Amino acid sequence: MPKKKDDFSCSFCGRRKDEALILIAGIEGHICENCVGQAQSIIDEELYQQEKKFKFALPAILKPKNIKEFLDEYVIGQDEAKRIMAVAVYNHYKRLNQKVNKDEVEIEKSNIVMVGSTGTGKTLLAKTIAKFLQVPFTIVDATVFTEAGYVGEDVESILTRLLQVCNYDINAAQKGIIYVDEIDKIARKGDNPSITRDVSGEGVQQSLLKLLEGTQVFVPPQGGRKHPEQKLVKIDTSNILFICGGAFDGIDRLIAKRTQKQVIGFKINDDKAPIEKDKLVKYVNSHDLRSFGLIPELIGRLPVVTHLEPLDRSALKAILTKPKNALVKQYQKLFEFEGIELNITEDVIEFIVDKAMEFNLGARGLRSICEAIMTDAMYEMPSETGVNVFNVDLAYVESKMGEDRVKQLRVAS
Ligand code: ADP
Repeated sequence: MPKKKDDFSCSFCGRRKDEALILIAGIEGHICENCVGQAQSIIDEELYQQEKKFKFALPAILKPKNIKEFLDEYVIGQDEAKRIMAVAVYNHYKRLNQKVNKDEVEIEKSNIVMVGSTGTGKTLLAKTIAKFLQVPFTIVDATVFTEAGYVGEDVESILTRLLQVCNYDINAAQKGIIYVDEIDKIARKGDNPSITRDVSGEGVQQSLLKLLEGTQVFVPPQGGRKHPEQKLVKIDTSNILFICGGAFDGIDRLIAKRTQKQVIGFKINDDKAPIEKDKLVKYVNSHDLRSFGLIPELIGRLPVVTHLEPLDRSALKAILTKPKNALVKQYQKLFEFEGIELNITEDVIEFIVDKAMEFNLGARGLRSICEAIMTDAMYEMPSETGVNVFNVDLAYVESKMGEDRVKQLRVAS
């Protein structure tokens, strides 16, 4: 005999229809809202456990060349930095998997420092490598740190962030990668010891030293300053790879001085062949970092020095269209969700690149220019019916890049 509607009950917990708020019918039975909730938590927990498993071994077939090829999919140009990064990371894995016997050669950590103007892809490179490696990764900004005991963050808070990204899996955090941005901003401020202490410059460099080298640190898992009653977690930083990046504005002068080359823009030595200011960065070495104001001990713990080249016109153009996550591809995807095919003409691409060059916005500017062009369409089109193709040509772009928007972009430059 078929059941009456009121006789239904949850097949999981047995609650009857009149006891449950909602009963969802399945082919064989029913489930109540409580059991749905519980099932969801079981799924979440299970997925979390699976995600938590970071992989610390590179598959045997992956060689530095493969790592570079992966980077090529996301980052345009910067070949030198990619090669150096690939080797450093490859060696880092060898180190992680080394079973150290007492008398065996111990491989040292190869922390990296990248020098290059803002917007040339330093962070992108670090992020991409972390994606490839599937290890916990975090980005920190060196400018927020002060020497312990002063207003600002302790350097050790870096480790708290790393712990947080891997859901407090200490073992995973101990093998992670930390990208320290704006390392140049903690350079020593001049050679003269000043009356006020240099708590955000050299003081921070000193605090970073130990972390970079490898030490055991007790960190508060929730962040903030340490205080006596707080529960602390012990983290060993010996296997954490540090990648530091900075624009090091003005380092070209120091490189020029060292190499005794005349630089177009600021003459240093009249008899030597001139080299373009932009090209100097490729000669950067640890000596220049020292002249810039990084302390020798810190430089010693950053044995791999590499550079990123300024992006030229063709690189900017490629950035718009080529990488896996290229901006143009992202907009096409966004419109695809609306069932609209987005076509951007070649002269529009040229226009965007021209504007980025003109306003000196670099790769970061490409996005602001694209937004200025696309925002109106992204606002209006979802409510329109019957549109399935959207062609962005030069006439459309010029109509969208009114004086106000151009001014806005100029201000940003
Ligand atoms: P940096 O850390 O050097 O200041 P970012 O890596 O943050 O610069 O770059 C800013 C944005 O510009 C990135 O998100 C990316 O979209 C783009 N970009 C910069 N350089 C490149 C590059 N070489 N290849 C691809 N995209 C790049």
